[in-house]
This record gives sequence, C-alpha cells and structure tokens, in this order.
Amino acid sequence: MKEMNLDDNSNSLVQTVTNGDSEKISTSRFSSLLASKDRDYLLCSREAEADQQVKISDLEGKVIGIYFSANWYPPCRNFNQVMIDVYEQLKSNGSNFEIVFVSSDEDLDAFNSYRESMPWLSVPFSDLETKKALNRKFEVEGIPCLVILQPDDNKDRATLYDGVELIYRYGFEAFPFTKEKLEELQREERMKHESQTVNKLLTNPERDYILGQTTTKEVPVDSLIGKTVGLYFSAQWCFPCVKFTPKLISIYQKIKQTLKEKSGEDFEIVFVSNDRDQSSFDSYFGTMPWLALPFGDPTIRSLAKYFDVQGIPCLIIIGPDGKTVTKQGRSLINLYQENAYPFTDAKVELLEKEVEEAAKSLPRSEYHAGHRHELTLVSEGTGGGPFICCDCDEQGFGWAYQCLECGYEVHPRCMRALPSAGSIEGR
Ligand SMILES: [Zn+2]
Ligand SMILES: [Zn+2]
Repeated sequence: MKEMNLDDNSNSLVQTVTNGDSEKISTSRFSSLLASKDRDYLLCSREAEADQQVKISDLEGKVIGIYFSANWYPPCRNFNQVMIDVYEQLKSNGSNFEIVFVSSDEDLDAFNSYRESMPWLSVPFSDLETKKALNRKFEVEGIPCLVILQPDDNKDRATLYDGVELIYRYGFEAFPFTKEKLEELQREERMKHESQTVNKLLTNPERDYILGQTTTKEVPVDSLIGKTVGLYFSAQWCFPCVKFTPKLISIYQKIKQTLKEKSGEDFEIVFVSNDRDQSSFDSYFGTMPWLALPFGDPTIRSLAKYFDVQGIPCLIIIGPDGKTVTKQGRSLINLYQENAYPFTDAKVELLEKEVEEAAKSLPRSEYHAGHRHELTLVSEGTGGGPFICCDCDEQGFGWAYQCLECGYEVHPRCMRALPSAGSIEGR
C-alpha cells in the first residue's frame, strides 16, 4: 500500500521529534497533529497526480482549516460546495491557506469519491488513529466542522471552532480568521445595518427595479420608499413554504384593505426566491399578489447572508425608514394574523397584553376535536414554552392548550370543540 511507504525524510522527521530537538519541534506545530509515527505527509488534491503527497512540514506558516466532514451527510455536502468556492477564491488571490480533510466516511470508496470533489489535502482514510485523535483534541461533536488554526500559535489561543459558520457568513473575506479580522467584519456589518435603506437592500449596479405581478412588469425599487416592506424568502420545493404562502396572501390582502382607509401608510411584500429553476419560480410567483426579485438575481444570495436567513419560509420586515423591524415576521403572522402589522416592538407588546387579557376568560381545560384527552390551558410560566400547534402545524408561544399526558398542544384559537360529548369514546 502506497500510504505505508516511508521515504528518508519521514524517518528523519520521526527521529528529530523523538530526539527532542526543540528547534525542529517549534517549527512543526502541524506535524504533532497531522502526522503519525510512520507518515509525515497528507494526500494531495484531485488536480494533483494520483497518489501524490504533500509534506506536512510544508504547511508550517500557513493558516490551516481542519475540516471534519462526510459524504453521506447532506449538510456536509452543502457546506462542501460553499467551501470549495471560498477555497478557490483564496488560492487564486495567493492567500496562505490550506485545508486538511478528516473523513467520517463509511468506507474507502466513499472517501475517495468525496475527495474527488476536494481541491485540498486529506488525512489518509486508513489512519484511524490520527482521525480519532483530531476528533478528540478539537472535541468535534457534529459535522461539518471546520477548526481553524493559526501558524505559530502552539497553545491554540487563536484557534477558531466555528469555521463553518464563518465561511457561510463571510465567505473568503473571513480570511485570515484572526480575532481582529472578525471584529472588523462585525463592525462593518453593524455599520451596514445602521445605514440600511430599502434601495441599498434591493438594488444592485445592474438593476434598480423589481418584478411586478406579471414577470414582465418592472417596478422601480424607489416606489417602496416610505412603506413597510416584507422580504419573503420562500421556494416552491419547500413544503412549509407552500403551506404558509396562501395564509400570507390572505393576510396581505387584509392588511392592504385596512390601509386603503388610512392615508400615508402602505405595506408591500417582495418575494425572494430560493427556487431551483425559472419555471418553478414563474409558477410559484404566479400565485402571489406582490412583487419579486428576479429569479437567480445575485441580490438574493447577498440578502440571505446579510439577514443570516437560516431556513425558509422566512419573512423579514423593513420599516418605512428602511431599517429592519423584525426577522420574526412569519411567527408574528402566525400568532396575530393581520393584526401583526406594522410588526413593531410597540405593536407586539400591545398584542401580547391583549392575549394575556383574553386568556383570563378562557376555560382552564377543554376537549379538542383532534385529541382524546382533556387539554389544559398553559402559559410560558406554567410549562407552555414555544411549541408547534398540532392543529395548524404552525409555531406558537405563550398561551396554549396542552395535553399534560402526551404533550399534544394547540393554539387557543385552534381549539375546536368536540361535536358531541359522546364521541370521546372510541377515540
Ligand atoms: Zn394552531
Ligand atoms: Zn393526550
């Protein structure tokens, strides 16, 4: 087996380390982590000649990402694609960066096929001991995981454990992953949010319009200035999205209707599509009464990053002044329907008070048509934290009717009384 081959250099490395040559040790920070007693190299990238190797000593002086991942796990494959783009950008601008893949694949074939996609280095699959030691040292609890090591940081003072998050959030701009760099990025981000306007959010150098109800109609972004705007991140392939959209449409229409009677106030929604192709975008957007960013527009990606959108559907509310009001638009719609408008803290506080007030007149316990046990009224204080309503499948928090026996939980407004007391039997 190739991996077991030793050349002269590897022998000398092992000797210097065991001889306690301090000068050598101080320059071989990565050897103690990545080498084994009979291996001083890592496997090369896909572009290199088959089975080519890179000396671990060549990594000294570089920023190193130790990358724990596995081919069989979709979140790893998703991250892998993003990481490849970032890595290639960093390589092309000459950054002193390298990644070492530590595989959790099931077998050598899976490892090899995953490695095919990777332009960086790998610990050989057969070296279980090194892989285990790395997992233990960095206390890896889940994958994908990217641990970033700084050169000449022998005490691991500057090591970062949240590389995956940093790559998703900042891309190649996070390099060289030092605390100073990250503070600078956070500062920049804060300033961007402080100077945010609807124009800055939704336009780019190539485009100053968004799509109207028919995709051929262009609406200037300027027309949104002074309005409350919901950015609706959604996609037709996403089941919870398809379920939420009709509800949002009906609430949108009710809000618009109410605002007709008030002057100087308006509400609009802009669909930010995560659809996979133009035709699903067209058919999904065709069901919506509001505006949209064009399919595949680069602003879609930057908005998702900017607002740190972790999952869809997601509704982010921008106030008439262009600043973010809330990222919890979806929950507020679910909780309060059209009354949630304009989604401000003051409005939410008012609504919460109303709910508290209304709960006082609710029965302490009741039967629900969908469940055979009696349900008890609970609030946050009495064990009712956040929940998913078993009747409408939407989130809820605060007051709820809960089966203390099996955890079945519904919104107070989703309580449907039993048709008749007799039907409790046989459920
Ligand atoms: Zn419900
Ligand atoms: Zn029950």
